[in-house]
Formats: sequence, structure tokens, C-alpha cells
Amino acid sequence: MAPDKRVDVLFAERLRALVNEQWDTWWATMTAQGVPSALETLEAAVTDFVRQLGQQLMEQLAVAVVPAPRPCCAVCQAPLRQVDPARPITVTGLWGEYHLTRAYYVCPAGHGSATPADAAWGLGREHAGVGGTPLPSGGRTAV
Ligand SMILES: [Zn+2]
Repeated sequence: MAPDKRVDVLFAERLRALVNEQWDTWWATMTAQGVPSALETLEAAVTDFVRQLGQQLMEQLAVAVVPAPRPCCAVCQAPLRQVDPARPITVTGLWGEYHLTRAYYVCPAGHGSATPADAAWGLGREHAGVGGTPLPSGGRTAV
């Protein structure tokens, strides 16, 4: 995805693509099982499909909306060196697990490391790479 596109345009494009990619399979599964007529059961099936789409949209959009950082060391102000352009992180949110990647930097003088996308996502430095710690805002966890 082009990072200069508006988020709403990206959202609409990705949602349309995901529905196009997955509707036929989902609907074939539904019809093979017998599409439920009970509203509660039908609603549960649709909710699960929408949850899967939401989880995938979150994974794609979360990475797309992070601005390209030019981080500096908080101690010596030297520009940080990127050592991994796609360090993985798993965040548990409302629609399940989001498997994300973000750039990982280190200070060339050895003052530590940084993953600026974590702060942009509101994960906080204390959650970067730490397993299963609940966030103070509730709901999401990073592992
Ligand atoms: Zn430093």
C-alpha cells in the first residue's frame, strides 16, 4: 500500500479487496454447512466473518499508517541505526491477534534500542517485545 494515500481510501480499498478475496470461500463454506435461518446463528457467522476481515484490516492498516521515523538516541542524540526493517510483534486486540512488523533501531554508541512504531501505535516502550503484558488502556496486549 502506498503510505501517502488517505487512510479512509486505504481502508475502503483493502476492505473491498479482502471481501472479494474471501467472500466466495466463506459463502461456499456457509452453503455447504447449510446457511442458518435462525437470526442468532446467522448473526454469529457474519460476526465471525467480519471479525476476520477486521483483524486483517488492522494488520495492514496499522503498518501503513505509521510515519517513517527518523529516530535519535534519547541519551546522545545520535541518529539511530536501523538493524531490522520488519521486527515482528503480535498485539491482541478487539478482533484477535494482529501480526505486525515494524522497524527496529539501535544507538550506534550502545545506549539501547527503539521501535518507534510501538509508540505510534500507543503500545508504549515498556511493551516493546515484552510478552503478554496488558496495556493500561485495556484490551490490547503485545507479545
Ligand atoms: Zn546514544
